[in-house]
Amino acid sequence: MNSRVSIGRCTSYDSPAVEEAVSRAIDALGGIKSFVRPASKVLVKPNLLLAAEPESGVDTHPEVVRAVIRALKKIGCNIFVGDSPSVFGDQIENVDEVYARSGVKKICEEEKVSLVEFNKRRLRRGIPMTTMLDECDALISLPKFKTHNLTLLTGAIKNLFGLVVGTYKTEIHKNYFRVNDFSKVLVDIYQEARPALTIVDGIVAMEGDGPATAGKLRDTNLLLASADCVALDAVMALIMGIKPLDVLTTKEAASRGLGTADIDAIEIVGEKLEDVAGKPFLLPTSSIKRHLIPAPLIKLALRMVKYRPYCLHDNCITCSACVKACPNKCITLKNKRIVFDYSECISCFCCQEVCPASAIRVKKSLLAKVIGL
Ligand code: SF4
Ligand code: SF4
Repeated sequence: MNSRVSIGRCTSYDSPAVEEAVSRAIDALGGIKSFVRPASKVLVKPNLLLAAEPESGVDTHPEVVRAVIRALKKIGCNIFVGDSPSVFGDQIENVDEVYARSGVKKICEEEKVSLVEFNKRRLRRGIPMTTMLDECDALISLPKFKTHNLTLLTGAIKNLFGLVVGTYKTEIHKNYFRVNDFSKVLVDIYQEARPALTIVDGIVAMEGDGPATAGKLRDTNLLLASADCVALDAVMALIMGIKPLDVLTTKEAASRGLGTADIDAIEIVGEKLEDVAGKPFLLPTSSIKRHLIPAPLIKLALRMVKYRPYCLHDNCITCSACVKACPNKCITLKNKRIVFDYSECISCFCCQEVCPASAIRVKKSLLAKVIGL
């Protein structure tokens, strides 16, 4: 396992600047041939959550995708780009619209590479994952650096959830709604689909109530890369101002020996961590500050403390995306107002993730406020 993480700066999404920064990040780790065989078939998987313009900061920026395509073209690879965007109950987001609005479709057309949909699946560890993994020799993952209301961080490991085909993601949310169970499934996916290389778009990151429109954009001006997703997520956590093991996917993956979460055992190349870790990120409203709670009390705290979605009706455009996305069917649109049945809510925050209008917010229960969580 190569637990080397490259940290590089990039201050804009101008095409030449991003290409230079991506190339620098890859070279710092030994060059593209250290990860991908020349002329091989490669699946490039950005984080394309929603149909949103690049400026929204919700999806991996198309110029990062372009820069990676160009690095792979230099060694003659056959390149496929794809993701499985958000799920609305029994249907997935209009994939073509996501590809178009995110800017990735245009980039793929300009670079003459294949943009694919994940519509065929094969069970791996009981999880229906895209057969593109079987058809390609290597996977390159391109997460966006964002906070996440359920998993705290969406980075290297979480980005792989998009390898699950369409609507099966809803079933996973429903069946594994506790964050520790959901995190284990995410690590199962990582165990099955280890990217040859992961490059994180942190040029504009997201803090607060990420990962979608309720989050706040933050100029971190960073590109991070590694072959070790655990090390990469650990470094991102430290940049955010939290402990790596507070992110349960990192903790689980490290405990299975899938990578290195110990910062002393991670070699950082490029920028120094202390130079890039500025003011701590605003954390999601729902984030349990695990380091404030003695370990034996965490389960008890999780049982007592509640986080629930609510609707900012002034922002709501009554699109019903949240109604369709809710795995427990506990949202209805009545008289043009969103209504929650909290008795059925499992606090998965899928509703917030799909809301295009920043209308779903999260509130803490009184106890959570009182005890400072
Ligand atoms: S209402 Fe509750 S169960 Fe439904 S999507 Fe939102 S957080 Fe999940
Ligand atoms: S809350 Fe958001 S997702 Fe739900 S109907 Fe309103 S705008 Fe659409």
